[in-house]
Parts: sequence; structure tokens; C-alpha cells
Amino acid sequence: MRLMSASGFQVCLVVILLAAPIFVATGAPSGYLPVQSNIAQTESRSIILMIGDGMGYEHMSLAGLVEYNATGTLSFETLTWNASVITSSLDAEITDSAAAGTAIATGNKTNNNMIAVTPSGEPLETILEIAQKLNKSTGLVTTTMIQHATPAAFMTHVESRSDYSEITSQIVEQAGVDVLMGGGLQHFSQNQLNTMASNGYTLVTNRTALLDFTSGKILGLFADSYMDEERYRDYTATPSILEMTNKSIELLSQDEDGFFLMVEGGQIDFAGHDNDRIGVALETIEFDKAVALALEFVQDNPDTILIVTADHETGGMKVVGHNLDDVLPGSLMQESDRRSLRVERATNVTTTWSSTYHTATPVGLFCYGSVFESLPGDLLIDNTDIFTLMADYYAGEPLSVTDVSTSTTSTSSTTGDSTTTSTTSGSTTDGGTTDPNLILYASAGLGIVVLVAVVYVLRRR
Ligand SMILES: [Zn+2]
Repeated sequence: MRLMSASGFQVCLVVILLAAPIFVATGAPSGYLPVQSNIAQTESRSIILMIGDGMGYEHMSLAGLVEYNATGTLSFETLTWNASVITSSLDAEITDSAAAGTAIATGNKTNNNMIAVTPSGEPLETILEIAQKLNKSTGLVTTTMIQHATPAAFMTHVESRSDYSEITSQIVEQAGVDVLMGGGLQHFSQNQLNTMASNGYTLVTNRTALLDFTSGKILGLFADSYMDEERYRDYTATPSILEMTNKSIELLSQDEDGFFLMVEGGQIDFAGHDNDRIGVALETIEFDKAVALALEFVQDNPDTILIVTADHETGGMKVVGHNLDDVLPGSLMQESDRRSLRVERATNVTTTWSSTYHTATPVGLFCYGSVFESLPGDLLIDNTDIFTLMADYYAGEPLSVTDVSTSTTSTSSTTGDSTTTSTTSGSTTDGGTTDPNLILYASAGLGIVVLVAVVYVLRRR
């Protein structure tokens, strides 16, 4: 039975022949073919984001000098992909932690003092909330208060960062974060603590109880206000940022759907405000040790990425010289001995300061994960791009970053899945973003053309 007249067939053929090159040129609907496989592959993806509050490049230099000597670098400075980050907020060149936290958490600039809302107060969806929608477990860890600007920007929506009552209320009533650790106990009423308990949280207030906790939702509140600064921390009573990070990863990684964890070294900033080089060194070194632990986990778990950055620089600090003998004792077993040595070494580093507040100096971004391997490094990006990187990763999309110094957007040639990396070798530098599926689409289009031509020839016989 003839399905169409000869002339109808010929018209149809012409249409197909004309359409095929357009199909090849424009590509199939974006990502059409790989999407199905990516959904399965991205289900368990996890992100560990670590923010050194107020940690500029010079803060890192100081800590590296003190801990590892003149040629030493912190562990996260060796991560595979890096960029510099512009930190300005919507209404000021010099940001505060609320606006910077909002930019990183939501991909949107807002005014200083505002927590994950637009300047008119509209809530902005955070990467933590996206993770929750994907059924992932979530955690927030800080050495300040859990209500402080940086952690708050990931789980609450408040017009003023100092409205701790509203922030605490949103943590209890709405946030649903599985793992919370830091200070800030004084802002919880007994009723709110009861509500948390009835929602399945275990309240933990000291180091021993934290180390003994093995599964479930946890509200770790280790101080009424900020946690003790590292210089004066009681090793037996108060967990370090390293111990809190370790426990958080242990708890969150039990979720086979993956997780989101943000860890803040929050008191690097406080030491910067005080122009206190000893405090900067001790807080940054401890943060670095937590990063090293997270890096080990990420290296063992390829469906996890690690992102280390700062929200802004504090103090305008510069390392201008040192009087270190560059010989570190081989083995100091006691934590307290190591701390004393660090204090002594930091005292022998000379620093200058230009401010007792934040500055507009760009900060570092250091990332680890196979998905970063095809991105060009050493870019200057905006802090909102940190959110974009994380959101793209969860979505199974290639990562995109824009170099603001050249307005050039680069896109990774892979989505980070080992099963797809072998099919892609396209260069992605300097604006040329090669769609890895283009060859596939071109082949499909060419196949259609050949098929139609064969049918046409056969029918004419
Ligand atoms: Zn600050």
C-alpha cells in the first residue's frame, strides 16, 4: 500500500533534506541524549564547600609559613583547579559575610546585611535547599554561631543578619538541616530545643558526646555564643573544626542520595578584625587540617567535589618578612605543644594591616574533582559563579565559569562522570565551548540524509 503519492513523497524528501543540515547545525534539543543517563549518574553526587571567613591569600601565606615553613603551602592550595574571586556585594564594593554568603549560597548578589533574600526581601533558593529537593542530606558547620551570617545564608531568609531570633526560629521551624554544629545555644529557647528534639534531633553540647554520636540528625551546640577561638580551645571539652568536619562527613555520607556540607572557619575573620596574626595563623591552620581531611574523603569518593574559598578578605593584611629558623620539630605529640610552637612561630612573622574591617581584595577558590579537569584555571570570577558551579554539578551539567577580566565564559567538556569523560576531548578554553554531543548529532543528521537518499533512489527504480 502506498503511504503517499510520488509528488507528496518528493515534497517530504525535500523538506527532510533541507531540515537535516539545520538539525546538524543547531544540535538536538540541548542535552537530549545524555540526560537520561546523567540522572542515574548524578543521584548520589555530594558537595563539600569550605569557607574561610575573611581568609585572603596573605592569611594563607602566613599560615603556610607558620605550619610548613618558607616554602610551605596549605593543603588546599594544591587542589587541581583554582580561580580568584571578586567579592563585592550589590550595594558595596566591600562586602559583609551576609551578602557574600548569599552570593555563594544562591548565585545572587544582594545588599550587605541581607541573608538569602533580594534587596526587596524576596527569598532566594539556596544550594542547600536544592540539595534537599534532590533528597540529599545536608549539614552546616561553623566555629562561630550556627545563626551567624555564613551558615544562615544557606538555610534561612532574613533581611537583617543580626535578627538572631528570626534566624533561630527559621532553623527550628523550616530549615530541616540534618547536621548542625557550632555555637549559638543562647539563642534557642527551651521550647525550640524541645521542638528540635521532637523533630528527631539529638542535642549535643560537648566533644565527647559528639565523638560518640553515630547516626541521625544532630544539633551540636558547643557554646552559648561563638565557639572558643583555637588559641584558647579546651581540647577535651570542645571539638575542633577538624573533628566537627570528620563527624559531619561520617553522618552525611550514610545517605546514598548524596549530601551537601558547608564548613566555615569563621574566626579567621575575627582575628583579621583584631589585626591579630597569631589568631589568623592558628584559625587558618586548623581550617586547613579540616580541608585536608575532606580532601581525603573526596579522593576516595569520586562522586563528591570539594570547593574551598573565602567570602572576603579581612584586615588588608600583608606578610612582609619573617624570622623563622625554618626547622620544624619532627614530632610534637601533644596538641598543646604544637599550639605553643605555632604561637611562637607566628610571633616571628612580620605583618602589616590596612584595615580593621573587610577589604575588596579578591580571594582564592580551590576545587577538587574530575569535573574540574577540563576547565581553564587561574581565572578571575565573580562569587556568584561558585553557586553556579555547585548547581551545575548537582544537575549533571557541564560546569560553566565566566572570567570577568575578559568576559569569557568557559564550560567543562564533561559532567564529571567517568562514564562520559572518555567520549569528550574538545578544547574548552577561551570562549570556544565545544558541545561534546555535536559529533553525535552530525552523525545522526548525516545518517538521515543517507537513508532518505537510498529510499529515494530505490523508489525511482
Ligand atoms: Zn568580618
